[in-house]
Amino acid sequence: MAHYTPMMQQYLKIKADHKDAFLFFRLGDFYEMFFEDALAASKELEITLTSRDGGGEDRIPMCGVPYHSAENYIKQLVEKGYKVAICEQVEDPKATKGVVKREVVQLITPGTVMEGSMLDEKENNFLASLSEFSDGTFSVSYNDLTTGETSVALITGGFDAAMSELYSRPVKEVVVASDFPEHYQSMLKDRLGYTVSHQDDVTIQESFQPLIKDMNQDKLIHGFGRLLQYIQHTQKRSLDHLQPVKVVELKEYMTLDMYSKRNLELVETLRKKGKSGSLLSIVDATITAMGARLLKQWMERPLLMPSAIETRHNQVEGFLEQFFERESLREQLTSVYDLERLAGRVAYGNVNGRDLIQLRNSLRKIPEILETLEQFNHPSIKELYRSINPLESLKELLEESIAEDPPSTIKDGGLICDGFNEQLDEYRFASKNGKQWIAELEKKERENTGIKTLKIGYNRVFGYYIEVTKANLRHLPEGMYERKQTLTNAERFITPELKEKETLILEAQEKSVELEYDLFLQVREQVKAYVNQLQQLAEEISRIDVLQGFAQVAETNDYARPTYIEGRTVDIKEGRHPVVEKVLTQDTFVPNDIFMDDKTDVLLITGPNMSGKSTYMRQLALTAILGQMGSFVPATSASMPVFDQIFTRIGAADDLVSGQSTFMVEMLEANHALSHATENSMILLDEIGRGTSTYDGMALAQAIVEHIHEQIGAKTLFSTHYHELTALEEQLERLQNVHVRAEEYEGNVVFLHQIKEGPADESYGIHVAKLADLPTELIDRATELLAQLENSTQENPEKVEDDHDQQLSLFVEESKPKVEKKREASTIEKHVENLNLLEMTPMDAMNELYQLQKRI
Ligand code: ADP
Repeated sequence: MAHYTPMMQQYLKIKADHKDAFLFFRLGDFYEMFFEDALAASKELEITLTSRDGGGEDRIPMCGVPYHSAENYIKQLVEKGYKVAICEQVEDPKATKGVVKREVVQLITPGTVMEGSMLDEKENNFLASLSEFSDGTFSVSYNDLTTGETSVALITGGFDAAMSELYSRPVKEVVVASDFPEHYQSMLKDRLGYTVSHQDDVTIQESFQPLIKDMNQDKLIHGFGRLLQYIQHTQKRSLDHLQPVKVVELKEYMTLDMYSKRNLELVETLRKKGKSGSLLSIVDATITAMGARLLKQWMERPLLMPSAIETRHNQVEGFLEQFFERESLREQLTSVYDLERLAGRVAYGNVNGRDLIQLRNSLRKIPEILETLEQFNHPSIKELYRSINPLESLKELLEESIAEDPPSTIKDGGLICDGFNEQLDEYRFASKNGKQWIAELEKKERENTGIKTLKIGYNRVFGYYIEVTKANLRHLPEGMYERKQTLTNAERFITPELKEKETLILEAQEKSVELEYDLFLQVREQVKAYVNQLQQLAEEISRIDVLQGFAQVAETNDYARPTYIEGRTVDIKEGRHPVVEKVLTQDTFVPNDIFMDDKTDVLLITGPNMSGKSTYMRQLALTAILGQMGSFVPATSASMPVFDQIFTRIGAADDLVSGQSTFMVEMLEANHALSHATENSMILLDEIGRGTSTYDGMALAQAIVEHIHEQIGAKTLFSTHYHELTALEEQLERLQNVHVRAEEYEGNVVFLHQIKEGPADESYGIHVAKLADLPTELIDRATELLAQLENSTQENPEKVEDDHDQQLSLFVEESKPKVEKKREASTIEKHVENLNLLEMTPMDAMNELYQLQKRI
């Protein structure tokens, strides 16, 4: 290192402390990057790579960005998941000899950005921390720096549950201990796409103790400490705006595992990764950005307490009843700015005059909103009305202090109203008077010299001047006028009189700008005292926004209010799939009832491909989620129990678990459901076993249904193309067959999308292929083969039965003797016979099958 120049040595020293960030090293008007940072940044940002001499043998790679346009470059890097360390000169270069002192003043990371342009206004920007404890539990903490919102939760279901908790939440960055298991870290990075950062210090300083006064669990405190330390490390400033930490009891909310959140496309679609087409996009009729954020939070955490669910439904009903009042409310909400983030910025201490004007304008709207709310008759809306504090005194303060059209800077004046401060008024009077005097001087000079084009102007460098065009110079009297500046067509002069006034005006102006700055800081402090109340107000307004949105959606889409019952009967009349019904343009969606009484736990759904089985299944899950988050539901009526968890194994396997077979993914998801579901849960299993050869697939499917039926008792929808499984209805008391109706019309299949009782009777695979426009020859050939197959099974019924027995012998005790009678049992068969099926999990069964297959 010694051979480098002192400045490069300084750079390397600072860089050593910020290895995981791009170091933006301030050099004059540029932020420069060196070595690997320069190589990487020049690629990522598409900027020119140069080099400089740093004292060593080789030139050092370098690239840079101008400091005034740095924000844009920082944004690009942060959006790609990188971190940027801003290193400034912290002493005046003129006043120092040698290398000027530099320090990192802020670390900008994906989870800690504050700048509006880097944020999605409709989404929280969470930084999360994850801590693992020796008993296998995890604690997770969240913070959104822009709103100051902080929450913590304890996760008991292992790392899987932690992933499910984080999945699909707007988390940008996760902070963990540096010895957090490597494979967990890579899952966070690769599967969930988060930036992973390290923080080992978990102490919570004295000044933050009040934030955790409600927290009595060491694990939560530990997790929050990590988060807090990391925020302090990156922000390098006081954090007095953090709100008291909310302890979230995850068991108070419906649990959705990662697979279900994905499969059900709650907040984004599987394929496009976009919001459009998600459940969220259908039920988002919020007006404000903070409403949109709250809606997403509600979707992530559907409720379990019937009374809390009902409170929301009452409010939606209240808004739904009165169309015109709701329209006024929606109109008024359009003028409310993002109070929550404004409050965050007030607290964080970086508001400018324009923010405060936005705040004032929003507060001006509140009384109108209150008036509208008062007109709603429903008691639940009256309650909302009473919960709002319009913060009159804050509004008044802003009305009388902040000028109407302030600049975005806070050091150049123009921020404070006339009449707010006497001293300021005096300065302004003096400077205004001076300007008046100058206008008069201009008039007088014109008269005295007879030069009509003479004018008095001002610029920053030369101050006030009298300008005379070259053509008129000869009219100017000698003596008094001192030449200051020569332009192509004109000369500029100063007189002692003008000089004197200039001093007065500039002094008054300078003082007034200084005073304005002080006054602004004072007002800002006063506003800060309202932060908690502002946050409260923001919360109430967001809530009203979400609820009016639910009413809007219920009306537009014809949703019904669900009722929640103590028992176990699911009774949905004319239910629809909220997203599919919107997507269908020509065809209209066919509504279907879903009925499962006290004594029915499993619906076994058969029917041709593409007939609507999985739509029907998703429909139930989405209806349950919508209802429990407080929305009305797509049906003419719905009554059901509260579901504690929803598990799904639906749809095509895909990129999420890369490198694993479809079948493995299927088994992992099924296993997850089987090991966590309770009798109050919902399980959706779509075509389980499809990913493997017919018999073991069918065997597993049957074993899984039996297991759910016998051991769990969760409400389960199970679709299958194994027609043989419909026979289970005979054995399993709480299982019922239903099928999707399709009819054959002139050799083509017509899907009616209607769910009917009983099993389906035919397979329509070939017809579906026809619909998919496969070549005619191919379809003909398939039809021919099918006929052959059907004939051969008729000719040789014994063989089929034989196969059947073997297949059943895996699971049904009674059929074993038959097999034994026919011939000597093989070692494999003996092995199978000795398996204790009731003790086996589906995973065990699969492993067993795998071993057996290897032996064949
Ligand atoms: P399956 O699971 O039986 O293969 P899907 O549920 O995927 O079938 O449905 C296939 C297509 O049929 C859907 O994309 C949708 O367009 C249409 N569909 C499904 N259910 C209905 C319905 N109830 N009414 C109208 N169209 C439907």
